[in-house]
Amino acid sequence: METVLSGIRPTGNLHLGNYYGALVNFIKMQEENNCFFFIADWHSLTTHPDPKMLHENVRNVLSEYLAAGLDPDKATIYLQSDVKEIAELYLLLNMHAYLGELAKTVSFKEKARQNPHNVNAGLLTYPVLQAADILIHKALKVPVGKDQEQHLEMTRNYAKRFNSKYGVDFFPEPTAYNFGSELIKIPGLDGSGKMGKSEGNCIYLHDDAKTIEKKVKKALTDQGPTEPNQVKPDYIENLFTILRVVSKPEVVAYFEEKWNTCGIRYGDLKKQLAEDIIAVTTPIRERIINIRSDNECLRKVITEGAGKARESASKTIKDVREIMGFKAF
Ligand code: AMP
Repeated sequence: METVLSGIRPTGNLHLGNYYGALVNFIKMQEENNCFFFIADWHSLTTHPDPKMLHENVRNVLSEYLAAGLDPDKATIYLQSDVKEIAELYLLLNMHAYLGELAKTVSFKEKARQNPHNVNAGLLTYPVLQAADILIHKALKVPVGKDQEQHLEMTRNYAKRFNSKYGVDFFPEPTAYNFGSELIKIPGLDGSGKMGKSEGNCIYLHDDAKTIEKKVKKALTDQGPTEPNQVKPDYIENLFTILRVVSKPEVVAYFEEKWNTCGIRYGDLKKQLAEDIIAVTTPIRERIINIRSDNECLRKVITEGAGKARESASKTIKDVREIMGFKAF
């Protein structure tokens, strides 16, 4: 059993890409590992969220992750701001994080360029808070996307730097969690390569059947193939990519055959695709509605999660204080 940690940003709702690209793997991961999943509410402050919206967003992502299958009996699910030990470790690690290296971080430079009027110190030290999130549980594995690899590298540097500065072998060096197979990328229905919130092309897990039908109906298509076994243009291949994920193999084979023999009717393909997406999302959507309004359930999950997370975090911070010279009288 390895300790694995993953952060969830409390922004927006979960879409089909999040589900197949991340959640399905998290659900498997929690069976085999000591998993910590936290909602990164402190991290979200770099963009100054509306205080009313902050709580709503946290409630949303918590409800959606639980509805999709994260299990508080198998994993520790908690709110970052409930574990003050993380803030203490962040402060301590900041003393070993240098301006030069932080300012060079790709994500910092990108965010600073996008929002030149809000280049705050929290944004600059974002990788240090991320390192604190990971090191507070001495996590060994972190599932990260390509854009986060540099942050994980920085976490390893802070761990090494701490160990060497104080002459200890205390923090392990975390590495990327390997899901074993290639990660699935869910494309957009608008012909773009990726389904994403900022692309505005998402099918959300909370979308009802009518909304999904409408979105699929609007997907980009053309006149159809003009010769047998023609290579599909990207926007048609995208529909097949989603079909391969949500539909039975015989359904996929049926439409492949229709394509190859120039007999495909996009109306039929879209109808089937919408139906199979709806079959996946409907049970999740129903659970989202139930969980979201069940304050007692949410409070229990978050309180118990905070308890378990703090138990792990307080052990680490106690040792860190000792190592750094904070001793009791
Ligand atoms: P985001 O909400 O865009 O930060 O995405 C959170 C995580 O969901 C990412 O790190 C990916 O693992 C996954 N993800 C997001 N969009 C997609 C997509 N279109 N296909 C596959 N995985 C995705």
